[in-house]
Amino acid sequence: MHMMGAIDDEDKLDADEAKKVLRRAGRMALPFKRTIAGALAFTALSTLGIVLGPVILRWGIDHGIEPGDKEVLRNAVLVCVGLTLMAYLSARQQFILINKAGEGFLRALRVRVFDHIQKQSLAFFDRNKSGVLVARMTADIESMGELVQWGLLQFVSAILLVIFALVLAFAMSWQLTLAGLLVMPVIIVASRKFQRDSNAAYLDVREQIGQTLSSLQEGIAGVRVIQAYGREPEQRRRFKRANRDLYDSHIHSVKVSTWYFGLVESAGVFATAIIVGVGGWLFTRGDVTIGTIIAVVLLFAQLFEPVQQLSQLYNSVQSSAASLNKLFGILDTVPDIEDGEHELPPAGELTVEGVGFRYPETEAAVLSDVSITVADGERLALVGPTGAGKSTLAKLMARLYDPTEGTISFGGVDLRDATIASLRQRVVVVPQEGFLFGGTVADNVRVARAEATDDDIREAFRAIGALERFGEFPEGIHTEVRERGSRLSAGERQLVSLARAALVDPAVLVLDEATSNLDPGTEFIVERALDSLMSGRTTIVVAHRLSTIQRADRIGVIDGGRLAELGNHAELVEHGGRYAALADAWQKSQPVAGN
Ligand code: ADP
Repeated sequence: MHMMGAIDDEDKLDADEAKKVLRRAGRMALPFKRTIAGALAFTALSTLGIVLGPVILRWGIDHGIEPGDKEVLRNAVLVCVGLTLMAYLSARQQFILINKAGEGFLRALRVRVFDHIQKQSLAFFDRNKSGVLVARMTADIESMGELVQWGLLQFVSAILLVIFALVLAFAMSWQLTLAGLLVMPVIIVASRKFQRDSNAAYLDVREQIGQTLSSLQEGIAGVRVIQAYGREPEQRRRFKRANRDLYDSHIHSVKVSTWYFGLVESAGVFATAIIVGVGGWLFTRGDVTIGTIIAVVLLFAQLFEPVQQLSQLYNSVQSSAASLNKLFGILDTVPDIEDGEHELPPAGELTVEGVGFRYPETEAAVLSDVSITVADGERLALVGPTGAGKSTLAKLMARLYDPTEGTISFGGVDLRDATIASLRQRVVVVPQEGFLFGGTVADNVRVARAEATDDDIREAFRAIGALERFGEFPEGIHTEVRERGSRLSAGERQLVSLARAALVDPAVLVLDEATSNLDPGTEFIVERALDSLMSGRTTIVVAHRLSTIQRADRIGVIDGGRLAELGNHAELVEHGGRYAALADAWQKSQPVAGN
C-alpha cells in the first residue's frame, strides 16, 4: 500500500522525460515570468555582494593595513558592511519574490487539477482511488513546491556563486586558484557517489515510512478485529519490525550524508591549507600579496556550500519531476463523458437497447444484451442477487457511465448526444447513501439547484411530506448537519437526498434503495416521501424491499448481467421462475428483504 504518494522506482523518470516535464512546467510558469526575473536579478545582486566582500578586504589589507593607511582601511570596512547589507536585503527580496511566484504557480496548478478532477466521470474514480488523488493534490504538489521555491533559486545562486567566485579568484591570482582547485576532483567524485547513495537512501526511507504508516493504520483501523482474536502480539511484532527498518534506513541515510558533508568540509580545510602554503611561497617570491591570499581563501570557503547544494538539488529535481509527471497525467485525462448537443425532451420513453457493459480495467462483462423500454411515468423495479448488475444498469440509465455496447435513449435522444445540463435536469439519481456536505440542511438540498430560495427548499420538503420533520428542529432547515451529516439520523439523511431530487423535479428518477433498516416511524416517513417523489415520474428503482417491489408497475429480474425476467408481480409469480422463488423467500423472511 502506498501512503503519502510514496516514491518508488517506477516514479523515477529518465533524463528525457524529466526534461519534457520540466519544460512543460516552465510554460505553465510563464505568467510569473516578471516575478521570477525580479527574483533572479536580486539573486545576482546578493551573490555579487557576497563575493565582492573578500575583494574589498584584500584592498583593505594591501592598501590599508600594510602601508598603515587608516582612511583606506576605514573605507574598506565601510564598503564591506555596505555590501553585506546589500546582500542581505537582496536575499530577502529574492526570497519573497520567488515565493510569490512559486506559491502562485502551485495555487494555479491546484485549481487546475481540482477542476479537472471534478469534471471526470465515475470511471475515472474507479481507476484512481481517492487516497491517491488526495496524495497527488497534497504530497506531490508539496514536493514540487520545494523545487519551485528552493530548487530554482538554489540552482541559480549556487551556479552564480561558483562562477563569480572562480572568476574573481582567477583574476586575483591564477596560481592560487589552481592550487585551491586541486581538491576539486575528489569533491566531484564524492558528489557523484553521494548523489546516487543519497537518492537510494531517500527512496528507502520513504518506502519504510509508507510501511510503518500502513502498519500503524491497520493497527488502529483494525483494532476491534485484532482484539477480538487476540492478535495484538503479532501486530506488535509487525509494527516493531517496520519501525526497526525505518530506524535502520534513517541511520543509513544519516551515515551517507555525514561522510559526504564531512569530506567536503575537510576538503575545504585542505584547500585552505594548500592556498596558504602555496600563497606563502608565492608571497616570498613577491608574486602575490597577503591580501590576495586571504581573499582567495575566503572565496574558496564560499565555494563549497554551493557545490554541496548542487549535488542535493539533482535528487530534488528528480522527485519533483516525478510528481509533476503524475499531476500532468491527471491533467491529460480527457473526461470520458462528453457533452452532447441535443436537449432532452421534458417527457418520453426510456429505452435500453442491446446494452452491454464492462467496467474500465476489468475483464468480465457486468451486463450483456439488456433491452428494456420504460414507458413515460412507469415504475420499474430491478431485483436480483447481489452483484448481478442492477446498480450498474441504473447508473447507465443516468449516464454515470456510457454503455460499452448498445444505446440508452430518452424520448428518442441517445443519452450520449444529450447536453449534460439537460441530462442532469431530466434524470436524477438518488444514491443509497447521499453524501452530505458541511453546512445546513438547506445548503445540502441546494446542492441540487444552486439558485433555489429557502421557500423552494421548504416546498421540496413539503412535496415529499417531510417538512414537519425538519420543522421540529429549533433551527428548522437551517440546522447545521455537521461532518457528513452526523447531526442527522440515517432516515433524515435519506430525506435530504430525496428533497434534492424533488427540488430538481426530474422526468426520470433513478433510485438505489437503501438497504439499511430504519426505525419504524422514520421508515414510514421515508417510504411516504419516496412514494410522493415517484408519483407521476418514470422511476427505476434498485429495490431491496418487498413493499417497493409490490408497488412497481413492472419488475425486471437481473441475473448474471442479463435481464432474466420482466413483468408485473402477479405475472412473474405465475411464471414460476426466479422471481417467484425470490418472492416466496421474501414472504418468509420479512422484513429483511432482498440481497
Ligand atoms: P448489484 O447492484 O446487482 O448488486 P452491481 O451492479 O453493483 O450489482 O455490480 C455488478 C458487478 O460489477 C459486480 O461483480 C461488481 O463487483 C462489479 N462492479 C461494481 N462496481 C464496480 C466498479 N466501480 N468497478 C469494477 N467493478 C465493479
